[in-house]
Amino acid sequence: MNNEKFEKIKENVSELVMFLKAMPKGGDLHNHSLGGGYSELIYEKAILNNSYYDLGTHKFLDENEYQQSDKNQDIKTIEALERENMEDYLNNYSVRGLKNKKSGADHFFNTFVNVLSTKVKEEELVLEVLKRNQLENISYVEMISDCIPETLIEKFENSFEIQEDFNLNEMKEYCEILEKNITDENILELKDFLNKRENYLKKNGVENIEVGYMPYLRRVSSDLKTFFTEAFLFILSSCLDPRIVGVNIVETEDSLKARRNFNSHLKILKYLYLYFQEKFPNKKINLSIHAGELTLEREALENMKDRIISTIFLERDKNKREKVITKRIGHGVSIQWETFETLEVMKKNKIPVEICLTSNEIILGIEGENHPFNLYKKYGVPMVICTDDEAVSRSNIVMEYLKAVKRYDLNYLELKALIKNTLEFSFLEGESLYMDGDYKTMRAEFSGIKTIEELEKKTVENKKLIFSNKKLKMQLELEKKILEFERNY
Ligand SMILES: [Zn+2]
Repeated sequence: MNNEKFEKIKENVSELVMFLKAMPKGGDLHNHSLGGGYSELIYEKAILNNSYYDLGTHKFLDENEYQQSDKNQDIKTIEALERENMEDYLNNYSVRGLKNKKSGADHFFNTFVNVLSTKVKEEELVLEVLKRNQLENISYVEMISDCIPETLIEKFENSFEIQEDFNLNEMKEYCEILEKNITDENILELKDFLNKRENYLKKNGVENIEVGYMPYLRRVSSDLKTFFTEAFLFILSSCLDPRIVGVNIVETEDSLKARRNFNSHLKILKYLYLYFQEKFPNKKINLSIHAGELTLEREALENMKDRIISTIFLERDKNKREKVITKRIGHGVSIQWETFETLEVMKKNKIPVEICLTSNEIILGIEGENHPFNLYKKYGVPMVICTDDEAVSRSNIVMEYLKAVKRYDLNYLELKALIKNTLEFSFLEGESLYMDGDYKTMRAEFSGIKTIEELEKKTVENKKLIFSNKKLKMQLELEKKILEFERNY
């Protein structure tokens, strides 16, 4: 495979899709399980859990919910739904029904509430996403998912009672209260939960693909006390079990509550980050945060001017920005309303932006030259191509790469570098295969590898090193898969 050959393939979109599907693509680092269930597949679960469908609200009802409803004429049995109203279902569980696919934020976000009414289980969604990724030659998925047992969250919340409003000056005392929950029993509950999910996935044919979970904090639907409690539990969990690889924050940044609480959210996270860093000095605490998923249509310039840089330092006050904390930024679309300093900080500290092209097109109405893809590229900020909510968007990782290649006229080397970024900037444990992020220079033990045979030989020689460094192991496997792909294509 050389660039000339790739440029020829680029001229034919369908052939490019086939090429990109076959190409090993490393990981997808930004995707939500709740947005990953295709309506055609979720439907089969929905009808096992429910007996009715409400055409007025586009939600499913089980027998109990039906008995408590007003039983109005919009509520149909599943038989009637299948006979006459499947369009209503299909159109309201993804952007399939969105006529103008630009700026469909409301339609997009409503689909999540609808999906919840199907009562599909989290593990079923995780399974669907992983199996699809297997089909697309993805070897690692970092998933924003419900991955902390609900009962554990409740225990932490119930133990934390305060008489007055949440006070940012009392976080030390709050931590002392919550710390009492760090018991063997609770740690076992977390591990048991993750073991069960792991077994379920294995039993259902998930193999040759790794998953790392990210629990998510909610900037709109949580009050500060809940946000603090969950942040405490989620960061703690990431220090206790390697399957929890990091923590994320979700929900729209431009809603009134998210805007008002922005500074408090940063303060809480910064405090807890430092708190757990001291408690677990050998652990890496990984935060990836949605930031700058904004446009002038949704937010004022004043609120966009420092959104990303404040999120990186978890600090709004310019004079107090000392150490970068957040390791990846989700979306970062509003970057052009910040200063060049943000781009420099991202480049210098190798903080990538998770690029979600289809999602930005639908939610924000931003695409093509209006998207900051080329700005990030020009200023050397690393990027990773991600899906965000592939099923709601009616997309997948192949289509995200297709858009990147076609719209920004990427050559083969640039495509390969983007793919390698997905493991380099993942939260996988261990050291990197590459020297200082330079994909042309592998670390001494592996330097000079040109063929599959050489790679296999060095892999055997360095078994011990590979065993203790998961990131390096997966990067080596990707190198091998790419060599095989290039040899055969
Ligand atoms: Zn997202």
